[in-house]
Amino acid sequence: DVVTRFAPSPTGFLHIGGARTALFNWLFARHHGGKFLLRIEDTDRARSTEPAIEAILDGMRWLDLDWDGETVFQFARADRHAAVAHELLAKGAAYRCYLTQDELAAMRAEAQEKRMPFRVRSPWRDRDDGDPAAPHVLRLRAPQDGAVTITDRVQGDVTVQNAELDDFILLRSDGTPTYMLSVVVDDNDMGVTHVIRGDDHLNNAFRQLALIRAMEWREPVYAHVPLIHGADGAKLSKRHGALGVDAYRDDMGYLPEAVNNYLLRLGWGHGDAEIISREQAVEWFDLDHVGRSPSRFDFKKLENLNGHYLREADNDRLADLVAPRVAKRVDRPLDGADRDLLARAMDALKPRARTLDEIAEGAVFLFLPDPLTMDEKAVEVLKAAPQGLLSATAKRLREIDDWTTEELEAAVRAEAEAAELGLGKLAQPLRAALTGRTVSPGIFDVLLLLGRDTSLARLDAAQH
Ligand code: GLU
Repeated sequence: DVVTRFAPSPTGFLHIGGARTALFNWLFARHHGGKFLLRIEDTDRARSTEPAIEAILDGMRWLDLDWDGETVFQFARADRHAAVAHELLAKGAAYRCYLTQDELAAMRAEAQEKRMPFRVRSPWRDRDDGDPAAPHVLRLRAPQDGAVTITDRVQGDVTVQNAELDDFILLRSDGTPTYMLSVVVDDNDMGVTHVIRGDDHLNNAFRQLALIRAMEWREPVYAHVPLIHGADGAKLSKRHGALGVDAYRDDMGYLPEAVNNYLLRLGWGHGDAEIISREQAVEWFDLDHVGRSPSRFDFKKLENLNGHYLREADNDRLADLVAPRVAKRVDRPLDGADRDLLARAMDALKPRARTLDEIAEGAVFLFLPDPLTMDEKAVEVLKAAPQGLLSATAKRLREIDDWTTEELEAAVRAEAEAAELGLGKLAQPLRAALTGRTVSPGIFDVLLLLGRDTSLARLDAAQH
């Protein structure tokens, strides 16, 4: 049975690369009807904070990546990790090393002088005359001859000479386990069958495998996924979008289904399918189609996908998501009626929007107090409009019996004809007067959503 895990270090937020790793593990487990586990690697006590843990759990919930069983906290398992180190010591697969900091520094300096890569060769590997009461670490007695090959599901066969690996530390002199030890013990105890993670961990895999073999544990299948790069090919930085998923949710206003779809396509493909539902993703996901080269983060693609999912999304849900963004812009809370108006406006607002923020921006005119504050471009448009055009239009609109699209359209068209203007030319000053802006939903939608009283009041107020 397949067991995967996501093992974030809670030192900040759930960043976008981590979210993709989580998604791939989740999809692989769900595809195979297996388990997806979550382990918080909180052994860096100074940097692992409660808010950082919460941010990760929050991000996973937002992306709807549910995990099976209890969340495992790595630090709480330190005793178990230490016990395994002692088991290795008892078996002769680990040894006590009494090298001091000064001795290590001297070895490092010597390697540097000879321009050799530094690898710890501890004389204690072959000595047993140390005093266990003296400060020491436990090191793995790693194989020194031959080579190890990992058949990675993404990278293919990757071979490293054992001579290039060192006898890494399992337990520090204060008795605390190292990261390398903890990961291996936890993966084993959690029954992890597939380790899917960023390829920045590929080097660790060889050391981890040495440890697994020393314990005679089952070797997991490895899949090291290339990291995400920026659009320019450089390593992903904040400028490129290496942000927490909370930024995608809060600052820009992306939908989780769009982020999931985007992350899925970032490094994995199924033919040329771009829009992939969660059900399809679960059905199709495999490791064979994970790409071998780093993928590039492309905001434009994410925005386009988000636009697609916005158009698909339920209007009431969108109104709930957009309301706080509008409230911030108009500097007042929206009440129930406002929210209903927002939901009714959604079909007019969403066709061109790519983010929740853009929808909110487009919706602001519905909630601004009168007299309307105009932006600069709207002021220009109004100045340029023929004298009397707005009042003539207002007059026709005032005579309408039913404030419906048909009647509004008939009235506006009649005025355009009378003024010998194209409909678009008339719509420009109307839009400016009604919304205070030069970009808005279609003019009939604007009139309809604002309603008779507000529409006429704004047209009156804008006349010059
Ligand atoms: N905690 C590691 C990280 O956040 C992941 C370790 C692993 O997946 O083996 O990079």
